[in-house]
Order: sequence, then structure tokens, then C-alpha cells
Amino acid sequence: MYSWMDKIRAVEPYVPGEQPKDSKIIKLNTNENPYGPSPRIKDMSLDTNMFRKYPDPRAGLLVDKLAEYHNLKPEQVFVGVGSDDVLAMCFMTFFNSGKKILFPDITYSFYDVWAEMLRIPYERKPLDKDFKIVKEDYYTENGGIVFPNPNAPTGILVSVDFIEDIVKNNPSSIVIIDEAYIDFGGETALPLIDKYDNLVIVRTFSKSRSMAGLRIGYAMSNPVLIKYLNDVKYSYNSYTMNMPSLILGSEIIDDEEYFVNTVNKIINTRDRFTAALERIGFSVLPSKTNFVFAAHKDIPAKEIFDKLKDRKIYVRYFNAPRIDNYLRITIGTDEEMDRVISELLQICSATK
Ligand code: PMP
Repeated sequence: MYSWMDKIRAVEPYVPGEQPKDSKIIKLNTNENPYGPSPRIKDMSLDTNMFRKYPDPRAGLLVDKLAEYHNLKPEQVFVGVGSDDVLAMCFMTFFNSGKKILFPDITYSFYDVWAEMLRIPYERKPLDKDFKIVKEDYYTENGGIVFPNPNAPTGILVSVDFIEDIVKNNPSSIVIIDEAYIDFGGETALPLIDKYDNLVIVRTFSKSRSMAGLRIGYAMSNPVLIKYLNDVKYSYNSYTMNMPSLILGSEIIDDEEYFVNTVNKIINTRDRFTAALERIGFSVLPSKTNFVFAAHKDIPAKEIFDKLKDRKIYVRYFNAPRIDNYLRITIGTDEEMDRVISELLQICSATK
């Protein structure tokens, strides 16, 4: 034991999915988008001399663009280095009462990591037997609420009315809805920010906009909460957003047609893939995301995970209570998902 040990913030870090180098691998483990970002940024050249200067601390180019896109005032938008950065800032800014914050027992596994790191007390509320959020569980005194809609890794969506009930029943807590996957068939709770002063909506460019590598996320709320978020950000690091992210991120917002087309392609592939999985003995939770969460009736998930990996197909397996017989499989192209089905068919028939 080191004598300085009591001075250290020792944390159990979040474990991200693997990022293998081999380009032959079909990589369906981190919910990336198989189609590139809008081609309109392909031939853009950046004047490298601009990197001499610090970027705009307000990230105005992107903030203004997102405000216009969502019909909001710029004071209602906050951008960060992926939604992970935005969510971490939200935890730091909004969850300070010393009371327990609430989130589901099965959900994005970064929430408890941030809570632990920031010493925020928390309680996980169990999903019901069908992996659904029980809204009444969130009608108790708390220090804040956070969950993704659709939830991850289940993929299950709740309605805007459901979210409104939670927001309405918690007037003295901030409720954060993580809409990382909302574009894949969900209805956003964004209009509720005009009606309630305690709601924050968080989005990302990493999934539906195919820009995980640029690291862009954002929050939308009323100007008061966004100001508190900016105050914390400016007290931590003024220049979180680099210039290429600001420029390229704001450029792709204009290509709505490409965005809608690629999202629809993924939705169609997801529904086709789900039906194919069911035909070979999987039960699949109803997904409104770019991934499915599936369990086979006879073969343990870990065994399938390992066999897929041997065949250069990477999916995600969580060795956690209640979900350790499920695989989370990102939706790739039609060709990739056909390959997955044909490998799964072989794995399943060989195991019988
Ligand atoms: N929320 C959820 C529910 C996610 O699954 C992810 C992706 N890991 C994120 C937030 C963070 O995404 P990013 O930081 O790439 O915006």
C-alpha cells in the first residue's frame, strides 16, 4: 500500500466496447453507424492555420446551428465532447443535493460510474419482468433522475406522456432524458422543455449522424439550466469543442435528406434482422434503436458471443445480473446482418 493512497480519487472506470484494428472484423459492438456521415463534408478542406488560435469557447457555430434546427434560442443549447461529456457535466451541475439520484438497474453503464466518481449517492430502480421502466418508482424523494429513452441496452422506448408524468411528479429535481437513440423510431420529449423547468434532453452525433469519431453531443433545456451547465463547463475547461468538430458538425446538420435516408435504412435492416433472429430461436426485445438485445432459447449468450468473435463478428456481452444471457447487436448494413444470420445459423445448428 502506498502512503499517499488516501489522497487518490481511485475509481472503477467505465469499460467501453473494443475497437479492434482488423478491418475484416464486422464490428457490431459499440452501436456505431455503418454508413458514413453526410458526404457533403467529404471534400471539405480545413485551413490548418486556424488551429493556431483557441476555438470559440461558446462553440457558437454549432450551438447556433442546433438552435435553429430544433427551433430553440441559442441560450437553450449546450454542446460537449460527445454526449458522455455532456452527461458528465449534467451530473456535476444538477445532482448536488446529497440525496440519491435514481436510474434503472439495467441502463447505460456510465451512470453509476459518474455517480461514483463525483460521489453522488444513487439508487437503481429495477426494470419490470419485461425490462420496462416502472414510472411510479420515480415518484419518491430523490436528488435527480436520469435514463435513456429508448433505454440501453434493452432498446425499449417509453412514450412522451410517460416521461411527462415523471417530470411532472418531480418538480424539485432535474430530470435528464438521454436521447442517444431517439432518431431510430422514437418520439422526442423535447417539446416538454417549454412546459417544465426541470427537464434536460441530451443528444449525440455518434449514432444517427454517424460521427462517433468527432465526439459531439449536446443538451437542450431552458436558458436557466443551460447557463448553469455553461458555468460549470467554463470552470472546468473553456475550450472543450475543437474546431474540426464545430465546423464539420454544423455542416452535416444541413443534410437532412441523407440523415433521414440512412436512419430509415437502419430501421428497415433492424426489423428484417429481428425477424430473422426470431426464426432461429432468439427472443428479441422490441427495439427502437440501432441495436437489438436478444437471447437464444437454448444456447448461452456468452457461448454465442465467443463463437461469433472467433468468426470475426464482434457484438457486446454484459456479464451482469438479469442480462447475462443477452447479446447486444448493433445494426450494420444489410450485407453484414445477412452474414451474422448465416454464422448464427451454423453456430446454433452445430450446438444442438
Ligand atoms: N448514452 C447512451 C445511452 C449511449 O449508449 C451512449 C453511447 N455509448 C452515449 C450516451 C454516449 O455517446 P457519445 O459520447 O458518443 O455521444
